Amino acid sequence: MVSFRKVTKRYGSLVVLDSLDLDVAEGEMVTIIGPSGSGKTTVLRTLMTLDSINDGVIYVDGEPLTHMSDGTKLVPANQRHLRKMRSKIGMCFQHFHLFPHMTALENCMEGPVNVLGLSKKEARERSEELLRMVGMADKRDQHPSRLSGGQQQRVAIARALAMRPKVMLFDEVTSALDPEVIGEVTGVIKKLVSEHNLTMLMVTHQMGFARQISDRVSFFYKGRIEEQGTPDELFGDPKKERTQQFLSAVR
Ligand code: ADP
Repeated sequence: MVSFRKVTKRYGSLVVLDSLDLDVAEGEMVTIIGPSGSGKTTVLRTLMTLDSINDGVIYVDGEPLTHMSDGTKLVPANQRHLRKMRSKIGMCFQHFHLFPHMTALENCMEGPVNVLGLSKKEARERSEELLRMVGMADKRDQHPSRLSGGQQQRVAIARALAMRPKVMLFDEVTSALDPEVIGEVTGVIKKLVSEHNLTMLMVTHQMGFARQISDRVSFFYKGRIEEQGTPDELFGDPKKERTQQFLSAVR
């Protein structure tokens, strides 16, 4: 569903992604861990086309993300292709970025109505179902300022899912939350893993959570995958010295 093939991203002389190869299979939950500055967030930003890449190709759902074929070779994609590819990807950020002047329900309905062209009735039904799924049905008419951080993040997850993305990206979605509400949000993500066969790529500092829910964990170091494996392999028996050092420092 997602493939990075020899992707390089530079800021000036700083190499942030270094000929990176990364794959996420359909229905797989992959977690990226690693030291600050190792390129974790950049992976998600390039998938959202918020950052461009200098070299390599990113494929989503079998098609190049920012390029298209002109019959013989890959050329930069036109706006139509970019819009189509962007609609395949949903993202939740550390800070929830809800629209402050809209209720929880209106936040979820906005994209389906204005981007996908659904009727208000269809968008409302879809949004209400998702708000139920994240346990926010009773708060659907509240504005974000009246909701706790955990509640806002659950609405943000419902809003992203309302676009029916093929891939969901989670960037440190629990980092800005008070400890006592982290469980609300991780609980929703666990539910997505166990009950919905969604493809997900997540960046987190919560090693316990990563271990519980990931199919595969990738340890990033200087813009490359230093080591990856199942949670038990990576956390239980890390082979590389850098992985061992990182894990012993964060535990
Ligand atoms: P991580 O998520 O692993 O902490 P990031 O992907 O956010 O790392 O960043 C990787 C590196 O890229 C860092 O060294 C960061 O300072 C640098 N970087 C990120 N965005 C920019 C930017 N807009 N301009 C210059 N350097 C940047």
